[in-house]
Amino acid sequence: MSIAEAEIEKLENGDCNENKVFFQALEEVIHSIAPLLESDPKYTKFAVLDRLVVPDRVIKFKVTWFDDNQNVKVNTGYRVQFNNSLGPYKGGLRFHPSVNEGILKFLGFEQILKNSLTGLPIGGAKGGSDFDPKGKSDFEVMKFCSAFMTELHKYIGPRIDIPAGDIGVGGREIGYLFGEYKKITLKYDGVLTGKPFMFGGSLMRPEATGYGAVYFTEKMLEIENKEALTGKICTVSGAGNVALHAIEKLQQIGAIPVTCTDSQGTVYDARGVDLALLKDLKLEKRASLAEYVKSHPQATYIPISEYPTGGHAAWNIPCYAAFPCATQNELTEIDAKNLIANGCISVTEGANMPCTPEATELFLSQKICFAPAKAANAGGVAVSEFEMSQNASMQKWSFEKVDKKLKIIMRQICTRVALTAKDYGVEGNYVDGANIAGFKKVADAMIAEGI
Ligand code: NDP
Repeated sequence: MSIAEAEIEKLENGDCNENKVFFQALEEVIHSIAPLLESDPKYTKFAVLDRLVVPDRVIKFKVTWFDDNQNVKVNTGYRVQFNNSLGPYKGGLRFHPSVNEGILKFLGFEQILKNSLTGLPIGGAKGGSDFDPKGKSDFEVMKFCSAFMTELHKYIGPRIDIPAGDIGVGGREIGYLFGEYKKITLKYDGVLTGKPFMFGGSLMRPEATGYGAVYFTEKMLEIENKEALTGKICTVSGAGNVALHAIEKLQQIGAIPVTCTDSQGTVYDARGVDLALLKDLKLEKRASLAEYVKSHPQATYIPISEYPTGGHAAWNIPCYAAFPCATQNELTEIDAKNLIANGCISVTEGANMPCTPEATELFLSQKICFAPAKAANAGGVAVSEFEMSQNASMQKWSFEKVDKKLKIIMRQICTRVALTAKDYGVEGNYVDGANIAGFKKVADAMIAEGI
């Protein structure tokens, strides 16, 4: 039995709770790439899949820090350096109480194929901590970030491993992490991406993932001969970096995003989400979405306690296109049924693996245009790589230049995925297309580099 098969068997036996999402991601890829493995024996001969599913290394460390009341706090930090066949390890850091090794292995594994799809020279990694920035003072976040970097700096570098942000890690956290890295190493280099613009960040990095998901969707709808998004109602989940900028780009192209969500509830504003208010609540005040309706009584706030049985309020609103942009497994089979019944024709994963396997299967079988995360949300890492290029050459690119390059890259990824699906007899299946195209490039590099 191969390592990959053994991993799947563990999932089926239900003895691997922590690794559940990792095996979920793995299972999808193994299923998708079967025709590729059958068509070319070299991938099996060199055991590429078995080598790919085991991270190069998993670094796990203790992070101790003082809170504002001088209590000692202890968290666990991780960096999963998964694969560097195509370039240095690259992937975000997530700070959220749910973080464990299994979640980071799932995200790191997806990151390998996502980074491969961009065509840029970057490998795959992910990291983070079970630290929760929510409710912490700025000073506490700073103390934690310093303590985290005290250990992490040993394993990263601009040609080794370049972390970025993810859930719970935005410009503020990256700034504190970078400050500590400089102090320890004396180096001012491009070791982190997602830095604030004033000290080495790229213009458009905050916007990149959300904008990129919309650019991908526009191209996918074009290829599939569907009506464009302009004038269409869209539903979006999340109220963080990805969701805010997906909403922003949707509005710029004349679509009408009517929902946003956080971990406590959903806002439905039929006139279109008030983006300025949303940014103020989430980026400035770090407040709950429940605040939204205080100044917008025409909108509805649905707390999670009032969600439809087994479903999510955002996916119960009729829409033309849906953009799940919050977190993994947030859109279930019930939600998929609701979306389809209400006329939704397109689903774009802005978050990483937000749709459960059952929901994905339903979308594919019902011929819904379905843009999987590893292709649709690759805009963030693509602009991170642009940030690395700018840092290495001591240049600053204009917003327009980065945006233009992002749009080109997202449209290229979409075309490559669609063509790959067609080549392997699964036309219109962007899940299989993305998995095959992403895997093939890494696998060929692994074979060329020897074992
Ligand atoms: P943020 O931390 O900025 O925002 C996350 C949003 O999702 C918040 O609104 C948060 O609500 C909500 N959320 C988080 N966890 C849950 C949960 N368990 N249930 C319900 N809602 C939840 O993160 P990002 O926007 O950066 O990331 C969102 C997704 O996009 C993640 O899957 C991430 O891996 C993926 N992604 C991000 C990229 C980036 O460039 N930032 C790049 C590619 C993928 P609350 O505020 O209440 O916590």
